[in-house]
Amino acid sequence: MPELLLRRPLVVSGSRLERVDNDVALGTASGAGTLDDAVLLPGLVDLHTHVFSGQDLGVSADEAAERSGVTAMVDAGSAGGDLFGAFAAIALRSRTRLRAFVNISSIGTTSIQRRGELRSPEYLDEELVVRTIAEHPGLAVGVKVRASANVGGRFTTRALAAARRAADRAAAPLMVHLGPKPASIDTIVRTLGAGDIVTHCFTGFAGNSLIENGRIRPSVRRARERGVLFDVGHGVSGFDPAIARAAIDQGFPPDTISTDLHAYSTHAAVDLPTVIGRIVAAGMPWADALQAATRTPALAVGLDGAGILSFDSPCDVVVARIAGSALTVEHCVRDAVLVRR
Ligand SMILES: [Zn+2]
Repeated sequence: MPELLLRRPLVVSGSRLERVDNDVALGTASGAGTLDDAVLLPGLVDLHTHVFSGQDLGVSADEAAERSGVTAMVDAGSAGGDLFGAFAAIALRSRTRLRAFVNISSIGTTSIQRRGELRSPEYLDEELVVRTIAEHPGLAVGVKVRASANVGGRFTTRALAAARRAADRAAAPLMVHLGPKPASIDTIVRTLGAGDIVTHCFTGFAGNSLIENGRIRPSVRRARERGVLFDVGHGVSGFDPAIARAAIDQGFPPDTISTDLHAYSTHAAVDLPTVIGRIVAAGMPWADALQAATRTPALAVGLDGAGILSFDSPCDVVVARIAGSALTVEHCVRDAVLVRR
């Protein structure tokens, strides 16, 4: 097991991370070295990815995690109930800790190149979703629906309602993607309660954004007060920096920062440190942005022990540098033991 030695105590107050002075020695299997001016972070947690590799949309979790400091990923509905067993087999072999939302459509998000998975209502199967979540405890953590016109056509609202019922029956969070109407953002947030998630929250795509006439919509503010989480889900068309800046300016930063990494978005989203940097550039303070890519997403899906540094038990540690709005990952050590010296 790699051992990380700290010659000075690391200051961790709750889940808040303090900057570490130099004089940090990193001892790993590959040797030790002194890192000046580095910060220590918990392994990053990406709440919105597509890592059902083998599916056309899927990327390999371990390859994507390799140099980005991500040690836990949540797949956002790539698999529905019909294919969840195949996804579970991949998760079992993955070094990266995986969790997944089960798509309300039994076929899952097979491809964003084709007609959406909700165009045929016979694929809407609440019973199958509830059963899948029950059969995969610790892996299937919630329900996903892409509630937008380009996915569901005239069945979109029906799919959103089915996903709501399935999540309620499974007592699990519901993640809804925001895209072109219907469903309108007002309808989506009205459907959600504490612990549920709106992803692509800063999209400006097709005039269905969380900002209306230059202000955060009242329905969106009320949703946050109820405990609904707003997730970045960068992707290709899921992120508009002008919307992000306007929202953060008005005191509405994201709760969680994620990539929506998939085979067709890697050129745009790049990796989680890049997306974190874009949110910091849009005005979110570093400490809050790091929390939004570590502890908050871990808690949202019950990833125990993830997204936090601990002296009591092995944890994933990232050694990184921060310059301006850029986060550069230098080392990622899984299952490290932090030792006070
Ligand atoms: Zn996605």
